[in-house]
Amino acid sequence: MTAAPGMTQANVAAVRLEQLTKRFGDVDAVAGIDLEIRDGEFFSMLGPSGSGKTTTLRMIAGFETPSSGQILLYGRDVTGVPPFDRDVNTVFQDYALFPHMTVGENVAYGLMVRRVPRLEREERLTEALRMVRLEGYQGRRPGQLSGGQRQRVALARALINRPRILLLDEPLGALDLKLREEMQIELKAIQQQVGITFIYVTHDQEEALTMSDRLAVFNRGQIEQVGSPADVYERPATTFVAGFVGTSNLLRGETARAVIGSDGIYTVRPEKIRLASPDAEPAPDEQSALGHVREVVYLGSDTRYIVELDVGGALVVTQQNLETSSMEALAAQDRPVRLVWKRQHVLTLGGSSGPTGDGEGAESA
Ligand code: ATP
Repeated sequence: MTAAPGMTQANVAAVRLEQLTKRFGDVDAVAGIDLEIRDGEFFSMLGPSGSGKTTTLRMIAGFETPSSGQILLYGRDVTGVPPFDRDVNTVFQDYALFPHMTVGENVAYGLMVRRVPRLEREERLTEALRMVRLEGYQGRRPGQLSGGQRQRVALARALINRPRILLLDEPLGALDLKLREEMQIELKAIQQQVGITFIYVTHDQEEALTMSDRLAVFNRGQIEQVGSPADVYERPATTFVAGFVGTSNLLRGETARAVIGSDGIYTVRPEKIRLASPDAEPAPDEQSALGHVREVVYLGSDTRYIVELDVGGALVVTQQNLETSSMEALAAQDRPVRLVWKRQHVLTLGGSSGPTGDGEGAESA
């Protein structure tokens, strides 16, 4: 692969979005975003329904024209360039396979249209099917495949074109949970093997955290945070990110003053909090709050406790069931407890300097 003239692979971004905007009537689907995606990266765009992820992806693909702003792929301005002249391919959630064609015909279709010679076509077909572990399936029809296999055919059909960037729009959305989790691991392995830049749209935070090198969290047409999964989870920049990626466990208003000792919006992740007896003495580097267990949810390897705080609000606590049986876990219901956590695990969230006007106390998602 070669970079744009005068640039090296190392310093040119695979994708660069500059003040990218898309307006549909009076809806700002994408409201002026700036973003850089690195070469060879598995990058996810995460956000709730309607936050602008798909529209952004479609603009990168060239299916949608921006209202304003610029799109650069490997240093080349492609803002007005049609989809087929961009070095990208898209894998859609519904696969869009031709049912009357075999797997081989489906995968090699793009090469046929571009009149790639037969011998090369066959070589590339074999290579693409090998990448997605579907050797030997080329004579089958889509109707004779499982959902996961159909998804891999769709992937092979994109990979055979050897794009520099692969765009994936909720590609695992139609699969059941177990298959989805298997395919997440497989997709990541394929991406590492082929080294192509993957841009992955999902509303599933766990999926984004599992697969991505970095991710962008979208909200209302804007990007709230860009970072590695650990950055976004452990250091959420805003209350929205804290709530959307993981359990929000917000402390604010009266509760923040009572528990943290100052005004602002704070969060403590559920797995950083431990349950102790009410008379336990927190260590100097710890903070604590009294409450009682309102609800116990036994989840096999973990238990989730929802604890009502005496100062108002509630916090979610998760504990691994290392030595706890389900009976012991469930017996905690209604018990008075002291929640204890290390000061270093309290995160201060953006927008914390002034009143937020959207409620007081502790909230958990
Ligand atoms: P989802 O996960 O549901 O696909 P998303 O984050 O991908 O959501 P988009 O599909 O990009 O969100 O939509 C962003 C906003 O733009 C939404 O309010 C949507 O209704 C609107 N929108 C998207 N496409 C069109 C269109 N073709 N015409 C009018 N409005 C549109």
